[in-house]
Amino acid sequence: MMPFAVSHPDRGHRRRAPGAGIVRCAALVALSLSGCAASSPPTASGPARLHTYVSAETGIFANAYILETQRGLMVVDATLTVSDARRLRSRVDALGKPLLAVFITHGHPDHYNGLTELLAGRPPVPVHATHATNRTIREWDARKERQWRPVFGAEWPVSRTFPSHTVGDGETVTVDQVTFTAHDLGPGECHHDSYWVARHAGRSDVFIGDLVFSGEHSYVSDGHTTQWLASLERLRRSLPRDARLHPGHGPAGGVELLDAQARYLNRYRAEVARIAQGRPRLSDTEKAELVSAMSGYLRSAKLTFLIAAGADAVAAELAAGAGNTGHGAMR
Ligand SMILES: [Zn+2]
Repeated sequence: MMPFAVSHPDRGHRRRAPGAGIVRCAALVALSLSGCAASSPPTASGPARLHTYVSAETGIFANAYILETQRGLMVVDATLTVSDARRLRSRVDALGKPLLAVFITHGHPDHYNGLTELLAGRPPVPVHATHATNRTIREWDARKERQWRPVFGAEWPVSRTFPSHTVGDGETVTVDQVTFTAHDLGPGECHHDSYWVARHAGRSDVFIGDLVFSGEHSYVSDGHTTQWLASLERLRRSLPRDARLHPGHGPAGGVELLDAQARYLNRYRAEVARIAQGRPRLSDTEKAELVSAMSGYLRSAKLTFLIAAGADAVAAELAAGAGNTGHGAMR
């Protein structure tokens, strides 16, 4: 029924991917209930059109993408809250074509929570993720619900839907002549990052997930900024110079977004190191100092609550020296 196939670049054979799963993200301590979802006009991509759905502030501005081909629609990421998922679903339905597949970039809830609302009542739609993203979601989902349902209330989906099909690094899923290739990066913004490259009609769109917070403050609470910086450097060397990056938060751009993200992380780490002086935690006063410093660095950027939320995770990461302590502030 669903016109998709999975192939490995080295083996070249087609196979169905095995079944699969998800998790984790965002630190919302104080959420404004204002804000409405915005949507950008579609981008022409050869015979395919790319639509961007931008979540409301209450959904931490998480992006979801709809790639429209002649025969149907592919969605990348699924938003956080019930309200945003309903609006995303309305955008999908308004296009009047069948939803053929969904792709998840990483295991934070602001990218998979909305799957249940998006898929309810439809014929089965495959949800693709890397093996590691699937594992991350399934490992963390219950803990995330315990942590965040008290904050989000009815906006946290009662049941979450996990990936149904998983792939390994370099494997490709083809849907209506669009090839989606998965790239597995290991820990970084999330406990396990990945991104998808969609190729169609000679064009490539890179769905980079939260490896890039385009012009916004970053979620660093998983405490893997050392590996995150290494992944950014790897991407800087491997992505084509004319690649188009579609981030999990903030507007799309070119590969220069990678450099901007690296500068942000290096500045954040430097400020934490200066304030913490080797200690693995910051006091509330010290966190306020960090917020002031980073707000000055990235003026008028959104998601400022993330600055303080990630302070202890990065302080612990730096204190440990190896950058992989796993002492997240949001656990
Ligand atoms: Zn996110």
